[in-house]
Amino acid sequence: MKKNRWKVVITDCDQGSIEEEKEEFNRIGAELILAQVKDEDETIRSCREADGLINQYTLLTRKVLEHLPKCKVISRYGVGVDSIDLKAATDLGIIVANVPDYCIGEVASHAVALILTLVRKTAFFDRKVKSGQWDFQQGIPIGRIRGKTLGLIGSGKIGLEVSKMISPFGMKVIAYDPYLKENPEGIRLKDLETVLRESDILSIHCPLNESTRHLIGEKEFKKMEKGPFLINTSRGPIVDEKALIQALKEGLISGAGLDVLEKEPPDPGNPLLKMENVILSPHVGFYSEQSIRELKRRTAENVSSVLQGKWPKSVVNPEVKGRTRIFISKFSGD
Ligand code: NAD
Repeated sequence: MKKNRWKVVITDCDQGSIEEEKEEFNRIGAELILAQVKDEDETIRSCREADGLINQYTLLTRKVLEHLPKCKVISRYGVGVDSIDLKAATDLGIIVANVPDYCIGEVASHAVALILTLVRKTAFFDRKVKSGQWDFQQGIPIGRIRGKTLGLIGSGKIGLEVSKMISPFGMKVIAYDPYLKENPEGIRLKDLETVLRESDILSIHCPLNESTRHLIGEKEFKKMEKGPFLINTSRGPIVDEKALIQALKEGLISGAGLDVLEKEPPDPGNPLLKMENVILSPHVGFYSEQSIRELKRRTAENVSSVLQGKWPKSVVNPEVKGRTRIFISKFSGD
């Protein structure tokens, strides 16, 4: 294969190595450049000759895209494509692709870890024992997991995986998901009020959008009759944090396990940082060595598929079909 037939530019990337990407583009004989651009003009300069782009945070605005005459495809590391002007890309015939499902198992197991840590109070006891207090009575009451009800808010890929992982512990799983018509395997769909009322543990797995921002607020906490634990591994603003802090203070809920917050990182004065029954992690749910390698490999494969005349696995702007800048003859499974 002719070397350097195609040119691919990574606009920016904070993941240390780009070995996975290099391997993929070596395989098809394309040149790969890591640009780490800072602003629009630099993006235009660095990407002008690119046939394909890989993008993390750099904004690919209409102005930038209009100056990239050869660009046939942009692949974003991860799910969200807010950094890319999708309408402009589509108008210009540029395919935009993403990787929506590289960390389902990681986020689901993180949610399950938070559930088990809260119910068994392992983080609480760890702190006590290390400070010289060997006294299990400090953690009482501790409920039994078997027979408890887990309520999911959103039962898509991650919610379903949480349900599969937790079911062997003997928990019943119910879910609120207004977009699903049929009960997913092992889960009973209910309305939001019922899920809030019947759950011993609530775990949030819906996307953040205008209809889910502050979906869980003061009114909802008051409907949680069983004083549940609240788990959020989705997006911080789905929970009204002020209302959450109030609910914890008033004992409306038993505790919270949060991988995401309204403001990340939190202000040092955020009361959640001081609460014994709150466990926090720094938005790490997506991460494992394997998930990141998979993300990088699949982001690169999206670009190499297009350069080889195939549709990438996950196209974000399917309306671009029929006006692409490269002839696409084959489907690779989107
Ligand atoms: P998904 O699209 O497969 O599932 C989301 C589900 O939420 C869908 O079934 C949808 O019908 C449902 N939903 C939409 N609006 C709703 C509403 N108003 N109320 C209840 N349900 C609603 O997505 P997924 O792969 O399961 O991911 C879920 C979320 O997890 C993502 O949106 C993202 O915010 C979050 N996430 C977090 C991390 C992390 O590192 N913590 C990593 C990846 C994803």
